[in-house]
Amino acid sequence: ETIDLVSYCHDIMEELRFQYPQIDFVFQQSGRMTNIEADREQLHRAILNVVTNSVKYQNNSRSKIIFSITEKEENVILMIKDNGIGIDQAAVPFVFDQFYRTDSSRNSATGGSGLGLAIVKKIIEIHQGTVWAESEPGIGTTIYFQLKKGEHDE
Ligand code: ATP
Ligand code: MG
Repeated sequence: ETIDLVSYCHDIMEELRFQYPQIDFVFQQSGRMTNIEADREQLHRAILNVVTNSVKYQNNSRSKIIFSITEKEENVILMIKDNGIGIDQAAVPFVFDQFYRTDSSRNSATGGSGLGLAIVKKIIEIHQGTVWAESEPGIGTTIYFQLKKGEHDE
């Protein structure tokens, strides 16, 4: 169905602020035409999988998660950025692979099976979108979803 990504993310952030009151959730928006065609439940799952990672791989500093929505030609880009432990450059290309976990997370107390981001990738690809990650150890991680605009925005 048609989803206005801005109000949709607003709602999800309300839910997240309630669930994780210790984390600062910030919303940024540039661009007005943010309708996409997507499955609500699946997109919700994808966003939560990304946010759970940001919560799980926190740094010692006060945690901040920024949602940012921008328009780029026929696409809408949702960026979810954290200030967590980050990912080694060499590991970044593999984080969307099934069962992949970085050395530091395998050795740490945080559990997980390495499936969260593989599911995210599947969901975004089903929507003919693209997903990628940028990260810097000690600084944080950003996950990007690029999705086609909905018909109503043409
Ligand atoms: P699961 O999600 O199945 O419980 P997981 O979190 O280990 O387990 P993914 O969500 O697929 O698996 O993430 C893969 C790996 O990428 C993680 O184990 C972690 O090493 C790294 N990673 C993912 N997101 C972040 C992040 N925001 N900050 C730091 N490392 C991350
Ligand atoms: Mg995960």
